[in-house]
Amino acid sequence: MNFKSSILSPLVHLFYPHVCTGCGSDLVEEDNLLCLHCVNELPHTNFEMHANNPVEKIFWGRLTLTAAMSEFYFAKGTLIQTLIHEFKYKGNKDVGLYLGAMIGSSLVQNNRFTKIDALVPLPLFADKEFKRGFNQATILCNGISELMEVLVITNNVIRKRFTETQTKKHRTERWANVEGSFEINNAQEIKDKHILLVDDVVTTGATLEACGAEILKIEGTTLSIATLAFASK
Ligand SMILES: [Zn+2]
Repeated sequence: MNFKSSILSPLVHLFYPHVCTGCGSDLVEEDNLLCLHCVNELPHTNFEMHANNPVEKIFWGRLTLTAAMSEFYFAKGTLIQTLIHEFKYKGNKDVGLYLGAMIGSSLVQNNRFTKIDALVPLPLFADKEFKRGFNQATILCNGISELMEVLVITNNVIRKRFTETQTKKHRTERWANVEGSFEINNAQEIKDKHILLVDDVVTTGATLEACGAEILKIEGTTLSIATLAFASK
């Protein structure tokens, strides 16, 4: 049994008995989420292996990172969009765990990410998370931690909506299009740690930058970033 099937809970069989989540074709092996064809079609970036990869370049001059990566290239109308949709909007968390484990598998095979102390999911607004029922980045972290065996820290970094005064103030600043501001609840918990900040898709990096900047304000922290997918601007 490989890592992909071993991390999938038996519940997968109940909800997705014998068909591929990617293409709907019948599955020969019942304990897989995707058929072999879809597995082979997944657009891995291999960014984790390369310093100065396109994700790291996004943050040049904006955020001091140890390393950054995305697992997949994102494109509309592709398998990866189908899987993200299934996960984020249809609430199929097993897909999220499966994809998170794929990130984890890439990270553990690469010494650029071996010194991570804790995973932090990019927080959603509380009302948005309540409505969706989960934070997709937290599910990805849980999938990653199956492979990396590091702590997932949730509910420490908080995302707040700007107040009216803050909105006015921030409109003139370079984080003008960042939705909300970030606050750290418990500095002690992340102090002196190498944090891996995790999100689903990176495009401009503005939100990750704003969140990461708050984390780096805490004494002794270092920061890396991992996202499920990379969408070019
Ligand atoms: Zn398939």
